[in-house]
Amino acid sequence: MSTFEILLKYGIPIAVCVLSCQNAGKEPGDVKVQQTGKPLDTTTLNDTFKAQKNNTLKIANSFGLPVGKPSGEGYYNAQPFGENNHLGDDWNATTGGNSDLGDPIYAIANGMVVFAADIGGGWGKVIRMVHRLPNEKEVESVYAHCEEIKVKVGDQVQKGCEIGTIGTANGQYLAHLHFEIRNSIAMPIGGGYGLDHTGYLNPTEFIQKN
Ligand SMILES: [Zn+2]
Repeated sequence: MSTFEILLKYGIPIAVCVLSCQNAGKEPGDVKVQQTGKPLDTTTLNDTFKAQKNNTLKIANSFGLPVGKPSGEGYYNAQPFGENNHLGDDWNATTGGNSDLGDPIYAIANGMVVFAADIGGGWGKVIRMVHRLPNEKEVESVYAHCEEIKVKVGDQVQKGCEIGTIGTANGQYLAHLHFEIRNSIAMPIGGGYGLDHTGYLNPTEFIQKN
């Protein structure tokens, strides 16, 4: 079955995000509330993911930061991977507070959107993308607490394209981006923190190496 057929089968809108790239105090503490909202639709995630198994999805041949394109200028990582058992990075504007509310979030690499919804709990609006690496392995990127989601499941997105905006998870936190990279695809959304790093990568380290 081709990607096209799979997308049709699951009613996934076919849209390619056009690269319209315009150069566009410590406040961590997130995802501590276990997800209580709508459960993650792992069926959709898995089915959609299958669509990237054939060769229509552009290879993710380089990675960049999800904020402050291209080098993270104007942002800092308030709670790096591993600190307080954090399973991601928390990106904040250096100007603090909610000054980054509504700022653009960029796709870190070419890939496909496999999940985009408000799941409530400590997560709020979440975008998940799968990226196909040059070595044919895959990684997943997770962008959480968004104010706005600008992509749909099935969208093939180019690196650097705006996929959403920085938010507060419906007012639970000062605005920031909770950002994860996983080398195990389609795991449950999880709790954002944990001692077991299985399936999780250090996002900043991965981006620097790729
Ligand atoms: Zn976080």
